[in-house]
Amino acid sequence: MGTREFKAESKRLLDLMINSIYTNKEIFLRELVSNASDAIDKLYYKSLTDSNIKISKDDLKIQIDINKEGRTITITDNGIGMTEKELETNLGTIAKSGSLSFKEENEKKEDIDIIGQFGVGFYSAFMVSKEVQVYSKAYGEEKAYCWKSKGVEGYEIEECEKEDVGTKIILYLKDDTEEENYSTFLDDYTIKNIIRKYSDYIRVPIKMEVEHQRPKETLNDSDEKKTEYETYKENETLNSMIPIWKKNKSDIKKEEYNSFYTDKFGDFEEPAKVIHTSMEGNVSYNALLFIPSRMPYDYYTKEFEKGLQLYSNGVLIMDKCSDLLPDYFSFVKGLVDSQDLSLNISREMLQHDRQLKIIAKSIEKKIKSELENMLKLNREEYEKFFKNFGNQLKFGIYNDYGINKDNLQDLILFYSSTEKKLVTLSEYVGRMKERQDKIYYAAGESVDKIDMLPQVEGVKDKGYEILYLTDDIDEFVIQVIFNYQQKQFANVCANNLDLDSKEEKEELQKVNEENKDMFEIMKEAISEVQSVRFTHKLKNHPVCLTSEGAISVEMEKTLNAMPNNQNIKAQTVLEINESHPIAEKIKDLYNTNKEELKKYSKILYNGARLIEGLNIENPTEFSNMICDIISK
Ligand code: ADP
Repeated sequence: MGTREFKAESKRLLDLMINSIYTNKEIFLRELVSNASDAIDKLYYKSLTDSNIKISKDDLKIQIDINKEGRTITITDNGIGMTEKELETNLGTIAKSGSLSFKEENEKKEDIDIIGQFGVGFYSAFMVSKEVQVYSKAYGEEKAYCWKSKGVEGYEIEECEKEDVGTKIILYLKDDTEEENYSTFLDDYTIKNIIRKYSDYIRVPIKMEVEHQRPKETLNDSDEKKTEYETYKENETLNSMIPIWKKNKSDIKKEEYNSFYTDKFGDFEEPAKVIHTSMEGNVSYNALLFIPSRMPYDYYTKEFEKGLQLYSNGVLIMDKCSDLLPDYFSFVKGLVDSQDLSLNISREMLQHDRQLKIIAKSIEKKIKSELENMLKLNREEYEKFFKNFGNQLKFGIYNDYGINKDNLQDLILFYSSTEKKLVTLSEYVGRMKERQDKIYYAAGESVDKIDMLPQVEGVKDKGYEILYLTDDIDEFVIQVIFNYQQKQFANVCANNLDLDSKEEKEELQKVNEENKDMFEIMKEAISEVQSVRFTHKLKNHPVCLTSEGAISVEMEKTLNAMPNNQNIKAQTVLEINESHPIAEKIKDLYNTNKEELKKYSKILYNGARLIEGLNIENPTEFSNMICDIISK
């Protein structure tokens, strides 16, 4: 049979592997061992439901053989094997489509990312091999097939002899170069270390013939006893097979946790946090939890499924047990192993399982306290976490009418106008001025945009700290929290913001009363607003739009951006700076030219809308009016 071509994407990935400058080449072994272990698992699972498959758990193993002279490493498993078709599809194409387009977007990051990101698996063999041969016999098939490739030129598949079901992969190591010593992979010791480092927890034995020496007593010519050393070989098991979560924390290196995580949970980056915990008592469990250091690309899609793997005494019983995680911690990955759960429990029963509920509660508490610790002890790390998953916590506060707010409100952060960084509510309250009784906030698209809001300047000027709410959900969250440590929240863009002294208020009221009729005329021109009035809070800015009632302008924007928007409108008030020259101008117009006043009112109103980031109904009219004024 002739040479077949790799699919274009595979070819380029392969090319990347072959010419890899990736220094961590040893991971090829982890990838191949992990594939072998998966294949064994598949066969074993099948045997549980298919009584025709007669395998004994004790026979399952992965064998590594090293041939120093031939410069080959052979990895053999007695797993499920591959058919001819499977060899073609699994090894001729990369399943992870998109991996190369990713690579293109991130050209500069070189191959490091791509290797980790997509766990390119099998192809990593080409980082160290000039030729790879895969002999495989699938379970239930008569014939065995061999897949061979020397790299990008292509591959061949042909029938071959292989007695046992399973897969044997032979790697022909590359020749050593000045930079790269591939021969190190022919060394027992190196292989042993790589297995221990990355694959120790694999639950089938990984075996290798290892040379040992033992003393042997002989008699020399003059019949004296003499000790010599003889070498003998032993097929040694290299991995401890103890699941990592059952090991002693102090015996586990960070690397081991990380590689367990990246291998099991399909992430390429090391986790931001590892939580290895256990509980003893009426219900006992071991748990190994990870907080990812980046948001999964599908996190906010319906494909994303939250949940932890559930093991009963080391045996996996469910891959994604969603009952173990509340939605607001759905970003947590990991597993729970408990001997108190029955093996044959169904999904439905599990939901009502009392033990499971206790475990879930305890895990939730643990995650929360770990996050609190991170916030306290490593702010930078926490902020990174918050950037990724803070919104999930906010949703947690907002959902279910705020039932979880007490649990979560101390974990959220907002940008502070005075600190110029993210702060907690508790930090804000701790800094409040003596007579300040409200937590001030302003909402907008970004910190910069909020900074530009006229209302914000006024409040800042009075020396108050303002929280900047830049996420769509933020204001809804604030409304659900309602009050924090008995302090209510106040939107600086709401018109009931009350920062003036009694005298100031009285004075303003008087001015507004005096100009009541003028405002009526203005309101005729801009019927959308509830009212028009003078204000003193704007410092140098002429106008602003404030909101009245529960819906703020920002909320209006968010609500109307939703798919089934009901065209909800914030009730707004046009406020005009009484100490700005514009105030005199409109008073003037009121006395001299009421039509002109109406026109100006529209301009002022539309200007205020633009400041708030709202669109204006008739931009052409607005522009024309301005041009009219300019040409006068
Ligand atoms: P991944 O393991 O991430 O799916 P790989 O490129 O490592 O990607 O492997 C591709 C596929 O080839 C696997 O999903 C599996 O179906 C098959 N495969 C690889 N190695 C083996 C093996 N030793 N036994 C059976 N099937 C295997």
